[in-house]
Amino acid sequence: MKILKFACLALALGTTANGALAQTYPSRVITWLAPFSAGGPTDAMARNIAARVSKEVGQQIIIENLGGAGGTLGAGKAAKAKPDGYTFLVGHLGYMGAAPSLYKKLPYDPIRDFDPVFRFPDTPLVLLVPQASPHKTAAELIAFAKKNPGTLNFGNAGAGSTSHLIAALFESKAGIDVVSIPYKGAAPALNDLMGGQVDAMFDQTNTALPQVQGGRLRAIGLTSTQPMAQFPNVPPLADTALPGFEAATWYGLYAPKGAPKEAIQAMHQAYLKSMSDKAWTQDGGPGHPPADGSAIRAGGIRQAHRRRDRQVARSRSRGQDHA
Ligand code: ASP
Repeated sequence: MKILKFACLALALGTTANGALAQTYPSRVITWLAPFSAGGPTDAMARNIAARVSKEVGQQIIIENLGGAGGTLGAGKAAKAKPDGYTFLVGHLGYMGAAPSLYKKLPYDPIRDFDPVFRFPDTPLVLLVPQASPHKTAAELIAFAKKNPGTLNFGNAGAGSTSHLIAALFESKAGIDVVSIPYKGAAPALNDLMGGQVDAMFDQTNTALPQVQGGRLRAIGLTSTQPMAQFPNVPPLADTALPGFEAATWYGLYAPKGAPKEAIQAMHQAYLKSMSDKAWTQDGGPGHPPADGSAIRAGGIRQAHRRRDRQVARSRSRGQDHA
């Protein structure tokens, strides 16, 4: 009887506490951990979405950058954060999908240690070369790599990053062998690409676009099967060098396991509301077409894990991060 009374009391207190949380959340600044260098695509996308979501939840959201090891360092830190609804991880297909197949030891488990909150719109990538590169098309670059195996350097955002995994997929589909040069994020990798220290790189469209428009880099192929208005005269790789080639990255917001359901729900709702704001989504917004509402369901993240895992499991991780 005593036990029953205690259980009832605990339940009542719990309900009251949760109800109270739902009314007061969020009462202080929220942190989203973006596990790559500032200025890269994850950081840019996270800041864009956080700024809009923050208006909906009525609280400031700050982005904390912790780059290294393809996002696994930051993900490890987020996994150990207090699950109080005030720290979240911006996760992508690499460290939250493929990493368990690529790293012998990880400081976290993407499924066991996190709860999914919402999924960002998927985003394609673009194959970039320096403005002065002799490779004017993807077909020319592939032909060169076939004649000169192991000589082209591809920059990327770290072992298991999107830029690394998609380059590995490209390598295997094209039947070429390139050298992977990992950095702590796409931002320092792009800098070296612009400086001509590396020969090529796959980058997300949001951060590639200003460099291409500014004439600092040349885009020679899209990983989407459809052309993109923002990249006129850049053909999908599938239409030129690699029939059937298609790749994109996915992102999701995650909470450390055990975070209050009310906090997850509040963030989820704030995101849905943001995505229904056409003035925002059509005017750059998250920066990527198409914003598919059906993909935002939290469970979609797990399905995407499995799909993408299979696609990238053959990728290799090599070397240490630069910069
Ligand atoms: N997410 C990385 C970054 O923001 C890019 C990548 O994964 O390729 O730097």
